[in-house]
Amino acid sequence: MHKPCSSRGAAYFRLLIVSAVSFAALSASSCSDCLCSSESGGRGEQAASEALDAVRSDPIRLRSFLFRMPKGADLHNHLSGAVYAESLIRAAVEDSLMIDLRSYAFVDPKQLTQEKARDKLPDGQPRYIPAAKGYTDQGLFDALVNSFSMRSFVPSAGISSHDHFFDAFAKFGAVDRKHTGEWVDEVAKRAAAQNEQYLELMQTPKLSNAEDLAKQTKALDDLDHYDMKPFQVGVQKAVSEAQKELDEIETSRRLLARCGAPDESATCKIEIRYIYQVPRGKPKEEVFAKALVGFALASADPRVVGINFVMPEDGHTALTDYELHMHIVKFLRGHYPKAHVALHAGELAPGLVPGEELCCHIQLAVEEAGAERIGHGVDIMYEKNHDELLKKMAADHVMVEINLSSNDLILGVSGKDHPPRYIADSACPSRSPRTMKEFRALISRTSTCAPSKPTVFNTAI
Ligand SMILES: [Zn+2]
Repeated sequence: MHKPCSSRGAAYFRLLIVSAVSFAALSASSCSDCLCSSESGGRGEQAASEALDAVRSDPIRLRSFLFRMPKGADLHNHLSGAVYAESLIRAAVEDSLMIDLRSYAFVDPKQLTQEKARDKLPDGQPRYIPAAKGYTDQGLFDALVNSFSMRSFVPSAGISSHDHFFDAFAKFGAVDRKHTGEWVDEVAKRAAAQNEQYLELMQTPKLSNAEDLAKQTKALDDLDHYDMKPFQVGVQKAVSEAQKELDEIETSRRLLARCGAPDESATCKIEIRYIYQVPRGKPKEEVFAKALVGFALASADPRVVGINFVMPEDGHTALTDYELHMHIVKFLRGHYPKAHVALHAGELAPGLVPGEELCCHIQLAVEEAGAERIGHGVDIMYEKNHDELLKKMAADHVMVEINLSSNDLILGVSGKDHPPRYIADSACPSRSPRTMKEFRALISRTSTCAPSKPTVFNTAI
């Protein structure tokens, strides 16, 4: 396990995710060395490099090699999206949910009015049927798996991969939160099988008073003089609720893994932390209120190591309010300096948004919000002053979580259009490390996949 990447410390930054760069990263002593060192690994690194060379041209053996290779940490993992569709169907059956056959989404029957429940399809069949039907109708089961994942998806007029991906989350959103411990267990099992040691899971906690807090939020145009006192009681209540839910999740997952028993699962050895998700597509008052609770929670509970903003960065509200969101993060960092910040930024591509929108999301995330990690960063080379920004990020040890598969699937950016080589060059201006070359070479081979889940395993450097 390598040393902290920056003096800012905390478990959050103790580990670098490792893919092909792991040999150097695991023995490095500073963040720039994590990326650039090729001398420090010694014989172990040499042996690993030779083993990699031996399988480089054989995709099946290469996959097997990478699967078993010690990987350190997974730092970009959205919990609900990392669960397989099959598990979601099982949970929906347990929860007695219905399937909406128009959208292949789960629906809680308690949310359906009697009139709605009687809706018919054009052929006269009921629109809503029990989720359990999925187990007796293979075609229906397949349609659900495809609806909740990128499996078999082919873009068509009006429905892009981007839209299908992001729409999937709402389709299984009716599954009860009580299953969250099961999801953590599932993801941890997969991590253990792949020889990982540390997981940071992004999750949106239950927040029953979010609406009240949002209503309390007044004009956000003068944050320098913003009065935080009215929020104190509500924030404390929200933090307590989130901590109680985390207790339940941890208890559930430890029970499932038999942690502490002689036959405990290997997953018990995986260190798990959480990152609090703030939905950036919501009204600004709600974003503020949820970010506020996230900062308070990340300051109060060591299990929550930071906050992140989620939902499509290219959405209308996300784009319109982006600068304000970065101001809000800066403001809340001032009140909660212990909380860490990782931000999805630059998850954009030409054609997805007007060209002007590619100007500066990463810059604002780094320079205004003080993000210590950037998720995706795909549009970096389209940003104004990108060379200076890359130098600053390298100097300040801002990490980039480069999510190769989702960038390919969601943004259509892969291969030579993908920016890791520029980021790597920025971090390693005078050397050309062997491990980074290997990573680059592997990029082209890891950019295609067809997982049966909406979020693919994300690997970052
Ligand atoms: Zn993400």
